[in-house]
Amino acid sequence: MEECLFCKIVAGEIPGAIVHQDEHLVVFKDINPQAPMHVLIVPRRHIASLNDLTPEDDNLTGEMVRRAAALAKERGFADGYRTVFNCGAKAGQSVFHIHLHVLGGRAMTWPPG
Ligand code: AMP
Ligand code: ZN
Repeated sequence: MEECLFCKIVAGEIPGAIVHQDEHLVVFKDINPQAPMHVLIVPRRHIASLNDLTPEDDNLTGEMVRRAAALAKERGFADGYRTVFNCGAKAGQSVFHIHLHVLGGRAMTWPPG
């Protein structure tokens, strides 16, 4: 996807503060952090939103969620962190390449608003 911001970060065409990468995922710091830890777990493959997932993506999304737990544990936040997939503009999705927000290091409130 030529015009996708996260595809460009994954490809190294735009700099990202990358904290982890592997065969399927790239993880980088959110440019506008909402907590002391705020990273985005992004699949290398372009998928616009959760609505576009297929059963073939089940392993990929499982890897994303388990990576969130691993990062929280590594950073000492395993006792309390927030994971968020915004889906659709109405829910606040602004980049249409799926990403899992992982936030930690402060108390979280509910409902999120
Ligand atoms: P969402 O609103 O759920 O689509 O999340 C998109 C997130 O991407 C926001 O939290 C932005 O702060 C973040 N973001 C936008 N541009 C960049 C960038 N160049 N590098 C890192 N994070 C970004
Ligand atoms: Zn993309």
